[in-house]
Amino acid sequence: MKSSIQNYDLASFFENGGIDNMDLSILLRRARNPIRSILESLLNGGELSRQDAVKLFNCSGADYVALIAVADKFRSEAVGQKVTFVVNRNINFTNICYMGCKFCNFAKRSDEEGAELLPLDEVARRAAEAWSRGATEVCIQGGLNPKIPGSYYKDILQVIKKEVPDIHIHAFSPFEIWYGAKKSRMEYDEFLSDLKENGLGSIPGTAAEILDTNVRKVLTQNKLSADKWVEIIKSAHGVGLHSTATIMYGHIDGPEHWVSHIALIRDIQKDTGGFTEFVPLGFIHDESPLYKNISGVRPGPTEDENIKMHAIARLMLRGWVDNIQVSWVKLGPSLAQKILKCGANDFGGTLMNESISRSAGARWGQEVMPREMTGIIRGAGRIPVQRTTLYKEIASYNDRDAGEFKPLVARSGTSETEALASRSWLV
Ligand code: SF4
Repeated sequence: MKSSIQNYDLASFFENGGIDNMDLSILLRRARNPIRSILESLLNGGELSRQDAVKLFNCSGADYVALIAVADKFRSEAVGQKVTFVVNRNINFTNICYMGCKFCNFAKRSDEEGAELLPLDEVARRAAEAWSRGATEVCIQGGLNPKIPGSYYKDILQVIKKEVPDIHIHAFSPFEIWYGAKKSRMEYDEFLSDLKENGLGSIPGTAAEILDTNVRKVLTQNKLSADKWVEIIKSAHGVGLHSTATIMYGHIDGPEHWVSHIALIRDIQKDTGGFTEFVPLGFIHDESPLYKNISGVRPGPTEDENIKMHAIARLMLRGWVDNIQVSWVKLGPSLAQKILKCGANDFGGTLMNESISRSAGARWGQEVMPREMTGIIRGAGRIPVQRTTLYKEIASYNDRDAGEFKPLVARSGTSETEALASRSWLV
């Protein structure tokens, strides 16, 4: 039986069981115009405009509850009760970089303590170790190290594929693609095709930050412009490489920037269909030079902004990008679990190493063990499902938590798809 509505704030909504225990029609009636009519228009199949999305970012009380309820409904319609995750390992192969992005506390000068460029055989060793522990993906990103030639990106792919042919390599941000193509004197699509032929499986849509020129001037001195980011992402999609899409928010930005950014992602997706997921990444201020050195910079998003970002992304990207990821690395398990009830459906990776977020002060970013990961998802009332990078389902944990992940048993030299088809997962 549906409960009556006593209170209209989000905490009460969750305490009362969320949308599972409440009538959406009642929640909508409690919302006020213009929010109610915006949400009703979406429920009737309308597309969320930028102007209306800004209004949603600014709403509160019963309006806010209704927004969350509609986002959760759209999540349920798009992907059901499954919450996916990928077993992966981050390998940050170099932290030497002189680009000077203001938010970055990862980059070091080559003469600084802790500066490193991993030897290629160490990159391959880490990938092989990840595979032996059940990872299906390595996520590889690094600084724009002046000592590496443009061919280094291909070298990384080749040594990994030689050691672990079936692992999916999700690697190189658009900033790295820009850098590698420039050093190689190649067009983006030519450079990306070459990487694909050498084993690149997909690219992270990082380095997006906020796709707005004025914001980027402050964050990155606009070294990789929004136009260049879009051009590189479209080139990747054009040569058959999928990518994620990210946003980094909660610093000098605001709702107008956020909705323009998400609308741009939506436009690209309409054109290419190449995004696998949208990943909101809240700014982590603790050790970031942006926060320490520039006045007026906010210390990351508030909890409500984090919740609304995922919910409104779900509304704006409905029908175009089905997967909205919540990053436990940035937010911690508890808030991430809450956001699963506000439109998100993917829990990201198990991340055996995650040095970029940790060096920017994230409290999380150590390994999350399989049992803990599936336990967190099940605690949110959802079904944990292990997936590949490109969202093929590998194993469901409907009625159990995971044990240790064991390596994929596959014939050497088979493709990822073939390997997964012949898989023998021991969990
Ligand atoms: S964010 Fe990336 S490109 Fe920018 S300074 Fe840091 S490592 Fe370099």
